[in-house]
Amino acid sequence: MIFDLHVHTSASDGVNTPEQVVLKAVDSGLTGLAITDHDTVDGLETAQRFIESNRFNIEFIPGIELNTDSDEDDLHILGYYINYYDEHLINRLMEVQAQRRQRAEQIVNKLQAIGLDISFEQVKNMTKGDLIGRPHIARAIHQAGYALSAREAFQEYIARDMPGYVKRYKFTPGEAIELIKKAGGISVLAHPGLIKNSYKINEIIKLGIEGIEAYYPEHSSTQIQEFIGLAQNHNLLITGGSDFHGEGSPESRNHLGSAFINEVMFKQIREYYKYKK
Ligand code: AMP
Ligand code: ZN
Ligand code: FE
Ligand code: FE
Repeated sequence: MIFDLHVHTSASDGVNTPEQVVLKAVDSGLTGLAITDHDTVDGLETAQRFIESNRFNIEFIPGIELNTDSDEDDLHILGYYINYYDEHLINRLMEVQAQRRQRAEQIVNKLQAIGLDISFEQVKNMTKGDLIGRPHIARAIHQAGYALSAREAFQEYIARDMPGYVKRYKFTPGEAIELIKKAGGISVLAHPGLIKNSYKINEIIKLGIEGIEAYYPEHSSTQIQEFIGLAQNHNLLITGGSDFHGEGSPESRNHLGSAFINEVMFKQIREYYKYKK
């Protein structure tokens, strides 16, 4: 049984709509699916309703992925079973979305300054929801003919240290964990294997994180074992997922179910949640 607990939709920077993601999950035979869009909950109600109205036999976990601030490291905090109507959460997400929009405009200005004929309108056209991320800009650069693929566009123009890069506002790890907690959710450290300064993992544990994403496409089997051990030592939940963004996305993460947890691990998460509630 496959539980993929890390999946993006077009509500953030995924390629597929929430309905398309659900259909793919059903077709791929997943037992459970968590949608974890960046800084938005907009796809969750749609996905949940779509599953219910079609009576699909798949367990749905409403989630989110919050990018947090930490100098050169991207610390991403996943939240599971969040109440996506939580007012405080929604207000903070709307602020961050507005800041993302300003940042996208700054990136477009920088690209224009180095001679790319790209408008903010073209970038906006790549989005399906209210959230703008760099992958949308990468797709616009590719479509305008300045790169052979969206991935190449990302790497050559807007990746860290590239001419179009602009930092964006992020939550602090502490606030992300608090927001998820207040919205009734479980907080999990995403892809710890991508964190360069590993002492930061311990800082996040001290802040009260409740789980570790051990299974992840870019984790080696050694890393998976290491993170399972870490979770066990600190009495934390073990999670995993593919970070699916859709085929043709500028990500390496384009296979639904390419990383997952099994039923035993999933039940531990669900029981923990029920007990906590
Ligand atoms: P943003 O939150 O707007 O800064 O964009 C971050 C998104 O870009 C995340 O989904 C990352 O997985 C993706 N991303 C980060 N670095 C790269 C890269 N080098 N190539 C393609 N996608 C990337
Ligand atoms: Zn993404
Ligand atoms: Fe992430
Ligand atoms: Fe992700």
